[in-house]
This record gives sequence, structure tokens and C-alpha cells, in this order.
Amino acid sequence: MNKPSIYGLTFDQLTAWLQPYGHKKFRASQIWDWLYRKRVASFADMTDVNKDCLGLLEEHFVLQTMEEHVKQESSDGTVKFLFRLSDGNLIETVLMRHKFGLSVCVTTQVGCNIGCSFCASGLLKKSRDLSGGEIVEQIMKVQFYLDKAAKEERVSHVVVMGIGEPFDNFENLSDFLRVIKDHKGLAIGARHITVSTSGLADKIVEFADSDLHVNLAVSLHAPNNELRTRIMKINKAIPIEKLMEAIDYYLGKTNRRLTLEYILLKGVNDAREHAEELAELIGDRRPLVNVNLIPYNPVDEHSQYQRSEKESVRAFYDILKKQNVSCSVRLEHGADIDAACGQLRSKQIKATG
Ligand code: SF4
Repeated sequence: MNKPSIYGLTFDQLTAWLQPYGHKKFRASQIWDWLYRKRVASFADMTDVNKDCLGLLEEHFVLQTMEEHVKQESSDGTVKFLFRLSDGNLIETVLMRHKFGLSVCVTTQVGCNIGCSFCASGLLKKSRDLSGGEIVEQIMKVQFYLDKAAKEERVSHVVVMGIGEPFDNFENLSDFLRVIKDHKGLAIGARHITVSTSGLADKIVEFADSDLHVNLAVSLHAPNNELRTRIMKINKAIPIEKLMEAIDYYLGKTNRRLTLEYILLKGVNDAREHAEELAELIGDRRPLVNVNLIPYNPVDEHSQYQRSEKESVRAFYDILKKQNVSCSVRLEHGADIDAACGQLRSKQIKATG
């Protein structure tokens, strides 16, 4: 069996793991300093860590479980990475540059079972969950890339919006979040981290009850069940009423703002009446809800969907604003590379058979 990645251990898990071998908490602090502050690429580089301890780490863990397979750099600074995992599977990770900092979009599963009808990733069924370590390593790989450029740039924001349904891999997602938030390590602020779900109601409740305290985004994409089921088949099992119940629980429990993602598909869900219906659905949740409108990135696999006209996006936005719904339009990143989620991966898989 392959050895697990050391990045998968939270600080407390590493401390507990070292204890039976007679190593104190101080040793875990030393190791974390090498992992996340000095960012070494091998255990041997941890020069002040006791030799016995290094031997143990080498025997039980690995530092690198994936390698860069393809990298696409856009003229706007977006970088798309395709990583090859130790079992040969390919996953996508994206670095995006914003005015407010550098964000990384991570993948949580190999493939996805949710089957959203517009998504290039959803065509490839889930073959497995990523481990917590594999999710952390995506951030580390991007940080190594930035370190190499020596511009003192740091990953400041994380969005869990890549391939996969993060709440379908809840335990590993939780470990990942604990590792990247920890002030002893990467210290990415909870307010700078957003997890996006297709709407697994039970998990939204579990997330609200957890101590994770990061931002939540829910993919809505339609204001009524008939249309949402057409776009996202998960809506059959978890209709809008059930989703809204979970959202209300989340808002009541956390009092944190929540984002509703709404992908605009030309002639499907981008009409004025859809905007009106959406405002009505949001109702008195307005103070805690922001709608993120996402102009669709067309992919060959789903030729039935096109990007909404600029005027439709504007009109949709204006109606929501007029109805006092907080709303934004997502800027496109990496338009000159394979911009849509999963596009690079599915192209590579097709090319290599
Ligand atoms: S949009 Fe996300 S949840 Fe839906 S199929 Fe694609 S990867 Fe899965």
C-alpha cells in the first residue's frame, strides 16, 4: 500500500502520532515549521529534526504524492495545473490572481457523481475521494510554484470549487480545512476560504454544526424545482424546499453570509422572470445571502448550453439589485486557456485515451 501524505495530518494528529514514539509536541512544531513555513520538498531537508524522528517519518509518510503533468499559464496570470496522482489519475488545480490576493481552487474527488448537466467534470464518474493530504498538497504545489518565482507571493485565499462534491468527502475536507487554517502552518484565514456544495442538505447542517467556520457557497442555478432538476439531477433527491431548510438552519446557526451560485445558461435560466422568481425565493434571507452570477463557459461536451448574452446578464443583475438582493457577476479567469472547470482534464484524458 502507498504511504500516506504527511500533509494530511492536522497538527494535533501529528502530535498524537509522535507521542507513542517518545516525541513531544515540540517535535510536531518543528516538523510543521519545515513543512509550511520553510516549505521543504523532502524529509531529509529538515536539518534540525532528530534523526530517529526523521527515520520514522520516512518510514510511514511521503511528502510528494503527485507530479505536475501539464501547466497552462494565462496572460491574466491564471495558472491551471493538471497533476498526476500516484495511482495515475489526473486532477485539476487553478491559481487565480485578484486585486485582493491569490486564490487557489482545489479538487476534492477524482471525477464526480453529482452529474450537473453543464459540467465537463461530471461526465467522468467519481472513481475515488482525494485524501486530506492530496487536497493540501495541491495548495503546496501552487505555493512551491510561487516560491520558485521568488516574488514573495503567498496563497491567501482558497476556494473548494474544483472537481468533485466536497461534502461527499466530508471527513477529508474537514482535515484539509483544519490544516490550511492553522496559524502554525499556512495560516489561511477562515474568511478567506469558501467551500462550494451542490446542495447536500444533511451535510450543510453538519457543516453548520462543525467548528470549521469557513464560508459556504451553494450551487442553486435555478429558482424552481422543474428547472433545477433539468440542470442538476441532484435536485430530484434534494429539492429546493429541503435545500432551503438546510440553508435556513445554516444561517440561523452561524449568522454568516452565504453565497448562492447561479450559472447563467442562455435561454435556459437567464430570463427576467427567473430573476424575479429567484428574488422571491431568497425572500427575507436577503441580509445574509449574496448571489454570484456566473456567465457560462461553453464546453464541447455540452453543446446544448451557450453563454448568456451580455445584455441578459446585465438585466438579470439589475432585477436582483432592484429587488434589494446583494449580487455580483463572477469575472472570468484564464479566458485564453481551458477556462471551464474540468476542461483541461477531460481534454487530456481524451487525448491520451
Ligand atoms: S459542477 Fe461540481 S458538483 Fe456538479 S458535476 Fe461538476 S464537479 Fe460535480
